[in-house]
Parts: sequence; structure tokens; C-alpha cells
Amino acid sequence: MKTYDWIVVGAGLVGSAFGYELANAGFSVLLLDRSLQSPNATRYSYGGVAYWSGNTPLLRQLCDESQAIYQTLTAELDYDIQYRELDLLLTVDADRDPAAIAPNYEDFLIPPTQLDPAAAADIEPLLNQGAIAAAFHAKHGNVVPRALAQGYQTAMQRQGGILAIATVNGFEHSGNSIQGVQTDQGTFHGANVLICVGGLSRSLLHQTGISAKVYFTQAELIETPPIDGLNLQSIVMPAELDRMGMEAEATQPDKEPLWDEPGHEVAPAVLDVGALQYRDGIVRMGQTSRVLTNPQAPLDAAASEAQIRAGVGKVLPALQHVPGTWASCLVAFSGDRLPLVGALPNRDGLHLCTGFNGPFLLAPPLARHFAKFHQGEPTDVLAQLAPDRFSHT
Ligand SMILES: Cc1cc2nc3c(=O)[nH]c(=O)nc-3n(C[C@H](O)[C@H](O)[C@H](O)COP(=O)(O)OP(=O)(O)OC[C@H]3O[C@@H](n4cnc5c(N)ncnc54)[C@H](O)[C@@H]3O)c2cc1C
Repeated sequence: MKTYDWIVVGAGLVGSAFGYELANAGFSVLLLDRSLQSPNATRYSYGGVAYWSGNTPLLRQLCDESQAIYQTLTAELDYDIQYRELDLLLTVDADRDPAAIAPNYEDFLIPPTQLDPAAAADIEPLLNQGAIAAAFHAKHGNVVPRALAQGYQTAMQRQGGILAIATVNGFEHSGNSIQGVQTDQGTFHGANVLICVGGLSRSLLHQTGISAKVYFTQAELIETPPIDGLNLQSIVMPAELDRMGMEAEATQPDKEPLWDEPGHEVAPAVLDVGALQYRDGIVRMGQTSRVLTNPQAPLDAAASEAQIRAGVGKVLPALQHVPGTWASCLVAFSGDRLPLVGALPNRDGLHLCTGFNGPFLLAPPLARHFAKFHQGEPTDVLAQLAPDRFSHT
């Protein structure tokens, strides 16, 4: 019977990055996912790397580390992750006062520059100047999300790690000590299990009697086929993300009990208008976010698609009627906008890694810290992200 040093559950960006770094550090790793074509959050992401955005000592350190990692990651993984730098335009709605928003950006490692609508349209000619009062501009990293996850998986396998298809539905344990996972393909044994199942983290842990303070949105977006003749040059996002307010409301203590019951909408849905185009011509635009406590809650695709098109069309009129398909996925978030990375209390060998705000920025450096920590190297980074900063049972 093989006992892996680490079983990593979930092969989205996060599980793939952590699986690779653990294998690279010399651990035996089994990376499991229920499907390698999973319609997961990584699949539908914009893949933005906001290395300019650190506004605390911890986040500034991780921004610097992330930027350095991305410079050499294609070579290290020997896989073209298609990293590039793009112009990011954070748009301010026409009825908002840019001066009131500017202070939100002052503390960042590289503060974005405020532009008037004409200057913003010089950078992004598809922008409707009449729809905005201003835009904040920064250089922003960008990768092809699936390529990054596949790059990590391929490099992990080169280091001896195993990638396998299996749906985890429980844990093997002796008392409080985790000894592996139970799956639809049988039992796998591991000294440590790392849960990286994104928006399904809460329900997977809940079904095994563990309550974790991690939440999820149903994100909805439109993905187009490659569009000839359309050239969206920048990433466009709102300067004020309504999703942040929704997440804050949905994680108030009085809302906590609702999260373990299906059928609730914990806060009203929001639409944060954003879009980007990849080199192959595919555009992703969105995004509507909902906090429905049933991860499988049915969504009204036609109504959402119409709402997204109308919202995007105000800011980027050329995108309103392009061909495209509605899609949805689950995105995990935490109560303080920092991920939960580390051991779960009262369960020896069970670890969690989810709830990122900006995993394309943070997962690469944190995966490295995590692997080094388990090799015995001290790091004060992980202590600040430990899941037990929230109480669990
Ligand atoms: C439209 C949109 C744009 C975004 N843009 C950005 C951006 O620009 N920058 C950024 O940093 N973030 C962005 N995000 C967020 C980011 O995409 C996600 O937070 C990130 O991809 C999450 O990665 P993950 O590996 O944690 O989860 P996922 O990618 O969801 O992967 C989880 C995996 O776990 C597997 N799984 C689930 N349950 C089980 C089980 N029981 N057994 C086995 N496997 C299981 C699933 O199949 C899945 O593959 C965006 C998200 C969306 C929706």
C-alpha cells in the first residue's frame, strides 16, 4: 500500500501550484481532481496578476515574490503559460467622483495613475468615454489560466508527482489523525491531505463534519469564440468592485448559520463589469456574482447573459452583441480577503488552501512558502494565513 507524503485534492490553479511545489521540494504527491475538464473557476478566470496591488507588508512581500516568480515560470515549468503584461483600466462610473475613490488606491505597492476619459480611451480605444468619469491605470500581469494550471501539473509529474481522476467524498482517519482520502475510485493513503477544491471547500469539509469559515460565490460570465477584427487591448475592470461589499455583507456573523443550509441568498447579487481578450481572440466578460448557499443552485442563464451584455455594453459598446456563451463557476472567498492556507485545527494531517482574493498573484509564492515550511524552513508568511485565525469546529 502506497502512502503519499501529500494528497492534494483539486487540480485548479491552487492545487496544481501547491502540488508542483511540494513535489519540487521532494515530497511524494498525488494530485486528484474529479475531472481535468472541470468547469472550475480557473477555467473561466481572467488570469490577472495584480502585482501592483499589495497594500500591507504581507501583500507587498507576496507581490514582489510573485512578480519575480512569473519572470522565470515559463522556463521553470518548461511550459508556455503565456505570461504577458497588459494595461489595466479600472473604470469609474460617470456618476461617481474619482477624487473620492483615489484614496483607495494610494497605499498600493505601485499606485495606479488616475486618467481622464480621453486619456483612458487613448489606451483602450473600445472604451466609451461618456460612460466613465475617469479610470485608474496600472500595468497588470496576465496568464492563460488553464495553461498555468497545466504547466504546474506537467512539471509536478516530471518531479514524480501523480495526477489522477477521482472524486473525493471523505477522509480516512484514525481518531483525529487523517490518513488519506476516500474517493469514487477507492481509497488513497497519505500522511497529509491538502484540500484545494475552491468553491466546494466548505461543502466537502461540512459533509465530513468539519466547519470551515470559507464561502463561495456563483460567478457568471460570457465567453466568446475567437473574434476576428475586435482588438480589446487592455483589461477593463471597475475601480469599485461591488463584489467586495457583497462578500463583506455575506460574512457577517449573523449570516454564518445560513451558509450550512441550502436555499439562502445571503446578500443581493452584483455585476462588476469587466472584460479581457486573450491572444487567440477569445473574450471573457462579466461578471455577475451571487452568494447562494446551495452550490448547485439553478441560475437564470438568459437573464444573466442579458444583464452582463447590457452592463459591458455601456463601457465597451463593441462587446455588447458579440457571439458568446454564458458560463458559471464557483469562486471561494474568505471573511478577511486573505486566503486560508494551512493546517485545520483538531485534525492532524488535514490542510486547507482556498479563499484567495487574487490567486493568480498569490498562489505561486504561497505554494513555495508552503513547501519550504514543510521542509522545515521557517516562514512568518503562513502564520498570518492560518485557517485557525477563524474559529472552526
Ligand atoms: C470571471 C472570473 C474572473 C476572474 N479573474 C481573476 C483574475 O483576474 N485574477 C485572479 O487572481 N483571480 C481571478 N478569478 C478568481 C480565480 O479564477 C479563482 O479564485 C481561482 O481560479 C480558484 O482556483 P482554485 O484552484 O482554488 O479553484 P478551482 O479552479 O475552482 O479548482 C478547484 C478544483 O477542485 C476540483 N474538485 C472539487 N471538488 C472535488 C472533489 N470532491 N474531489 C476532487 N476534486 C474536486 C474541481 O473539479 C476543480 O478542478 C476570477 C474568477 C472568475 C469567475
